[in-house]
Amino acid sequence: MSSRTGGTTAFDRLRARFDGRPHACEECGFVDEESEWAAATTGATVEYRHECPGCGDTTVRRYRL
Ligand SMILES: [Zn+2]
Repeated sequence: MSSRTGGTTAFDRLRARFDGRPHACEECGFVDEESEWAAATTGATVEYRHECPGCGDTTVRRYRL
């Protein structure tokens, strides 16, 4: 058992933004119900990448923290 310190970070909030919102591919329109966004952050920005299972196109979303 590990106790979690701190609360919800901006990173968590951004992550939650994608949960429950299936991503529709901008290229082929494929709706990925179980879309997995790979998140990477530099500290100032967070970048989400999603690769479409339908056409392989990669969508990138970038947000400032
Ligand atoms: Zn696609």
